[in-house]
Amino acid sequence: MTLQAEFDEWAASGSDREMENHHWHTAKTALAQMPVEESDTILDLGTGSGYALRALSRAHDLGESVGLDASPAMVKNAHEYTDTDDVTYTVGDFHHLPFTDDKFDHVWSMEAFFFSEEPRQMLSEIRRVLRSGGTFFCSVNFYEESEHTHKHQDRIDIPMFLWSRQEYRDLFRDAGLSVAAQTTIPDEEIDIPPEDEFPTEEWETRAAMVDRYRTWGTLLTVGVAP
Ligand code: SAH
Repeated sequence: MTLQAEFDEWAASGSDREMENHHWHTAKTALAQMPVEESDTILDLGTGSGYALRALSRAHDLGESVGLDASPAMVKNAHEYTDTDDVTYTVGDFHHLPFTDDKFDHVWSMEAFFFSEEPRQMLSEIRRVLRSGGTFFCSVNFYEESEHTHKHQDRIDIPMFLWSRQEYRDLFRDAGLSVAAQTTIPDEEIDIPPEDEFPTEEWETRAAMVDRYRTWGTLLTVGVAP
């Protein structure tokens, strides 16, 4: 299955909203750290339901901001869920961004970077569209150290690429972005049942679930364009 077909299916079955609800637990902490100033423009890569830009638009007076996604069904849903003039959504590919140089003040991406088969090309595009001093906030739950997320690959036909914390920093630096910060944001909101309820449908042990959500949570790496 192509990436587009896979995510079109997810959008049609309501997984876009499910991901939104789930990812919001930690995305909101990362988004709150983005140094957004009045009229700043933001690009959301792999926007899904488009929730990150809606949240940023509620919190700030944004300039023209764009959510990009390979899936036309995701983009259509994101449009339908959004009722603000400062945000639009468009179909596109991470590796060939349809924007002029220096167009955005910030780039955001949640749980999408690891779908890139050519992360260096994607980062070079991000650097190109960021203005000097602009930031790239890259959030992922699926990464090397968070070993209980590795099984996510079993649920999807599209290849996912596991990078470690160090590899994220190296990739950013190789693309010419400085690494301003790297943190793990624990998911404190997900309900973890008491010991005697394990195994659950999804989790063999309580310790594994704690490791996944409370210990590793979401990896946020922040790059800054020179
Ligand atoms: N950021 C959203 C969606 C995450 S799912 C959230 O937090 O819920 C990942 C999204 O990235 C999917 O909608 C998928 O279509 C998109 N995506 C994956 N690879 C892509 C690529 N090469 N170009 C554009 N979008 C891509």
